[in-house]
Amino acid sequence: MVERFCEMVRIDSESGSEARFIEATKRQLEAELSAKCVLDEHGNLVAKIPAKGATGGAPIFLAAHADTVKPGVGIEPIVEDGVVRSKGETILGADDKAGLAAIIEAVLTAEQRPPVEIVVTLGEEVGLVGARHLDLSLLDAKRGIIADSDALNEVIIGGPTHASVDVEIVGKAAHAAAPEHGVSAIRVAAQAITRFEEGKLDDETVANVGTIHGGMIRNGVPECVTIEAECRSLDHGKCLKQAETMKAAFEETATAVGATANVRVRIEYEASRTPEDSGIVRLAKEAIAAAGLEPETEVILGGTDALILSGRGLETAVIGVGGEAAHSTDERIRVADLEKASEILRNLLEIAAAE
Ligand SMILES: [Zn+2]
Repeated sequence: MVERFCEMVRIDSESGSEARFIEATKRQLEAELSAKCVLDEHGNLVAKIPAKGATGGAPIFLAAHADTVKPGVGIEPIVEDGVVRSKGETILGADDKAGLAAIIEAVLTAEQRPPVEIVVTLGEEVGLVGARHLDLSLLDAKRGIIADSDALNEVIIGGPTHASVDVEIVGKAAHAAAPEHGVSAIRVAAQAITRFEEGKLDDETVANVGTIHGGMIRNGVPECVTIEAECRSLDHGKCLKQAETMKAAFEETATAVGATANVRVRIEYEASRTPEDSGIVRLAKEAIAAAGLEPETEVILGGTDALILSGRGLETAVIGVGGEAAHSTDERIRVADLEKASEILRNLLEIAAAE
């Protein structure tokens, strides 16, 4: 499995450039698992593998994402003292190729399993794009697991509503020596941002102003500023309310001084929660316990493909793969943890087949 994982990370697949990795994975699944593979119109891979052993058990999907963040070109994995890491100039890509390696190993080694559909999505890191476009008509499974978190004992069962807030402030340009003829867009932005709360607003709600760009020259009153902000909450209503507060702060501040604020609020995805007593969460917890760990369920403020797929009607939970320091050149995974992840997934398939 470690060798297979290393082979996977050697194939570049930064977001937007996953095609070669998808093609290699398709060939591998066809050769090793006799899977029937299809790419949907968006380029996501769906691989169907028939049941083995016991005939019980409804179909289940196991998903991971193909894309990695940057810097992810020319990854050279090194296995040293039981840990896999990159040579140091790139990420490792355990997020999420460790998930996929563990899935394949689990399907290969499970003594019995229900029909399995391995789903490999594109563009997870850039807005869950693949999951949004995934052709669900290719899937028989109504429930599944995404192997794309860290802690091996955690089952992630819910996430937030996420609103993007894009702002363009238009003031009036003037020479810095005659500022009375201008309206400073930078000043409007600064004042507006201090009119709403930012950071952790309560234990389920956060807000952030992530980028700000504006002004052209030192000796001119700046005419334009653009801002990218966002807020998230496990409570859908709280997220909408915070987004409205931010929008109003920009609009009112701008209007008061004769500037204009064009604010666009976009809901990226909506909060959802897979019930604790649903079949898939029970299955995940049993599989973790059977691997000797204490299962815990969590809700997180981060986005995962599970939010999209849950929103689209599939019963979905996320489990951990054991990687550390994802999205950094220090990213690494212990071989023992990767093996544990595949053990959990194998347990899950065997328990599901016996249902
Ligand atoms: Zn990931």
